[in-house]
Amino acid sequence: RAKELGRDSLQVHRNDGGSRVAERFNLQEELRTAIAGGQLFLDYQPQIDLASGHVRGVEALVRWNHPRLGVLAPGSFIALAEECGLILPLGLWVLKTACRQNKRWHDLGLPPVVMAVNVSPRQFCDPMLIDQVSLALKDSGLEPQFLELELTENAISQDVPRALATMAELEKLGIRLTIDDFGTGYANLAALKTFPVRRLKMDRSFVEALPHDPTMAAIASAVISLARGLNLSVVAEGVENAEQMAYLRHNGCDEVQGFHFSRPVAPESIERLLAAPPA
Ligand code: C2E
Ligand code: MG
Ligand code: MG
Ligand code: MG
Repeated sequence: RAKELGRDSLQVHRNDGGSRVAERFNLQEELRTAIAGGQLFLDYQPQIDLASGHVRGVEALVRWNHPRLGVLAPGSFIALAEECGLILPLGLWVLKTACRQNKRWHDLGLPPVVMAVNVSPRQFCDPMLIDQVSLALKDSGLEPQFLELELTENAISQDVPRALATMAELEKLGIRLTIDDFGTGYANLAALKTFPVRRLKMDRSFVEALPHDPTMAAIASAVISLARGLNLSVVAEGVENAEQMAYLRHNGCDEVQGFHFSRPVAPESIERLLAAPPA
């Protein structure tokens, strides 16, 4: 059985001990079924332009409707998917689904938004990524400027020349690249200038303590200045209240995303939001 599942599942056996092995092994098998069997779905969280109050983008966030355990957050299965390689089919499913959804909104005549899709480190290093992105665009008919990929600092700093080549290919497709959770990874600030990214997404950990914690406030405004200086736009994640939003606006942040405006929601809710006048 293990042989049939390949090298990656054996890796899980070697690294873990006791009953957790069986548990994880089982979850891995179940995830394989889930990807093929329609148990995954996407919620979407709006990104708001601070100057106009308009929804400018949405981030696609994957969930797993597990038959026994109920709806699982990505925190409970993305790392496993990344370890065992299932992140590749999962990532392709997310890309295709998110692109199709955005095209559907366009076809409904709603104001256009950019669809942001998370790309894990292993996915970013996979040579198939470029083809998968082109496929998702072609398959959906979505124009490339309405797709954004969120990359992590760690994924792009492992092998900078290679990352640069991949990013250049992606950029050639006409899509937008963003660095997610900015400030939490290994930030090669000098390399940042050479990366063809268009924006930074400030990590939630810096937003959380705004505006009262002076250290976090200093970091947040420094990230915004850095983005400005490099001519990148900047979006803050995890904005939960009006004070945080006011601080970010005052310091020149372009967009915000967080529970203050909306939790990640089903596509129908995004439709209603896009159809409504700005708040
Ligand atoms: P992320 O890309 O940093 O996504 C933002 C996470 O913060 C989401 O958690 C979102 O629900 C949560 N969040 C948004 N606003 C707030 C807020 O105001 N307060 C707080 N406390 N949290 C907020 P979620 O959906 O559980 O996703 C967690 C992580 O899982 C994501 O972090 C991303 O790294 C990963 N992920 C999600 N979907 C995918 C996917 O399709 N592919 C890959 N590779 N990773 C994904
Ligand atoms: Mg993200
Ligand atoms: Mg993030
Ligand atoms: Mg985050």
